[in-house]
Amino acid sequence: MLDTQVKNELMTIVDTGRYLDRPEELACYAYDAFVVEALPDAVIFPETTQEVSDIVKIASRYKVPVTCRGAGTSVCGAPIPLRHGIVICFSKMDKIIDVNTRDRYIIVQPGVVNVDVQKALAPFGFFYPPDPGSMNTATIGGNMAMNAGGPRCLKYGVTIDYVLGMEVVLASGDIIRFGSKNIKDVTGYKLSSLFCGSEGTLGIITEAILKVRPLPETVKTLMVTFDDLDNTAKAVTDIIGSGIIPVAMELMDKLTLNTIEDVANLGLDREAQGSLLIEIDGVKEACEREMTLIIEKVKENGAIHVQEAKSEVERERLWTARRSAYGVFAKLAPDIVSEDVTVPVSKVPAMIRKIIEITEKYGLKVGVLAHAGDGNMHPMIPANKADKEEWQRVERAFDEIFQAAAALDGTLSGEHGIGLAKSDYLPLVMNKQTIDFMKKIKQAVDPDGILNPGKFV
Ligand SMILES: Cc1cc2nc3c(=O)[nH]c(=O)nc-3n(C[C@H](O)[C@H](O)[C@H](O)COP(=O)(O)OP(=O)(O)OC[C@H]3O[C@@H](n4cnc5c(N)ncnc54)[C@H](O)[C@@H]3O)c2cc1C
Repeated sequence: MLDTQVKNELMTIVDTGRYLDRPEELACYAYDAFVVEALPDAVIFPETTQEVSDIVKIASRYKVPVTCRGAGTSVCGAPIPLRHGIVICFSKMDKIIDVNTRDRYIIVQPGVVNVDVQKALAPFGFFYPPDPGSMNTATIGGNMAMNAGGPRCLKYGVTIDYVLGMEVVLASGDIIRFGSKNIKDVTGYKLSSLFCGSEGTLGIITEAILKVRPLPETVKTLMVTFDDLDNTAKAVTDIIGSGIIPVAMELMDKLTLNTIEDVANLGLDREAQGSLLIEIDGVKEACEREMTLIIEKVKENGAIHVQEAKSEVERERLWTARRSAYGVFAKLAPDIVSEDVTVPVSKVPAMIRKIIEITEKYGLKVGVLAHAGDGNMHPMIPANKADKEEWQRVERAFDEIFQAAAALDGTLSGEHGIGLAKSDYLPLVMNKQTIDFMKKIKQAVDPDGILNPGKFV
């Protein structure tokens, strides 16, 4: 419970409907898609930047923790209010402020859902490339705070590559603005790189100017299956090595394909050991040339079934299959741990072999799902957290998976972030001086440590 004085002051900013503190209400903001939960003392729904600033000024004065929340789809515990305090939920700051395709930008509030940005741009023949699998629910504020990626980031890059400007409320309550509507702007430090990916630990994003792109003339989508997972991974490195950068190259293993098929009945090949969903885009002639070369490469690697989507409906069906992968795994066990290690693309086959070897050693099931073209792998282990012995095996397996990724010149996260899930593993990929440097940045911008405390810094 917040101190009555703090509550009274906060309620001078928002009315009763925008302030929650009943236990049954707070429970809805205690979790994300990871496995740790913590209750906030209050949840507040601001409508303007000024309200955010006023809330944070009170929190700063009373040293109350503040944790931001978009849609709560994080898979690493990032929006969990570990030290309780206030959750600021952005569902009422969900306005698209300006769409300007002539100057190639869109201005949005942080609570706008990613797919609504796409819907706003499509009638103008434009799109916003970052497309996390959670794009139907995740917010732009959450995407920016996590520097989210997605399947088509292989060709187009991740969230930070599309941030032109931001408005941020600091831990003091001060409002800062940096960047601009210009595609080129090197005025001062690139502060968007500081806040983007900071998981809400350095500042609160209240507005964003995002770069957008014209939709490509042609899109071609291919589903390929293999009777060997190693060959599936090798096809990925061969395609990239041949100089083609597809929009997306999504790898799924047999368990993943079958789990999707059990639920969605999409006609996926149940016998395949591995599959690739490959998409390319651009001008028609170039796409045709690239597609011929891709088909050559997958056949060289023993593809057993090659199916090109013949219509938008078919393409959508293939993407629905891919996007539902995480959700359908929920039927396998009470808990799912979906991890996010990344290795250089040439090491994808070796990393997949390692994941299988380690999970077999610990007697665990694993589904391998990967944005394979950029080396970003999501091993998904279904388990039951209540079964302490099994859970210990899960933790030991991930311990070894992270170590294996680091040993292959990889890293801890390609897109899901660190949150609560992986802070202990930072020394695997960063030296002490680097971690200390991040702590100094945190200390400088949030000296009382009120913003999302208990997380990786
Ligand atoms: C099915 C599924 C598929 C997914 N696929 C992908 C994927 O392909 N790529 C990917 O990158 N991620 C993926 N994710 C993870 C997750 O969706 C992303 O991290 C997403 O960006 C989180 O957005 P959100 O709005 O849900 O944020 P939340 O989960 O609510 O919050 C995430 C973090 O952002 C902070 N935050 C939120 N809003 C603000 C703000 N305005 N200012 C400052 N900090 C803020 C929170 O404090 C927290 O630290 C997936 C998750 C699921 C469940």
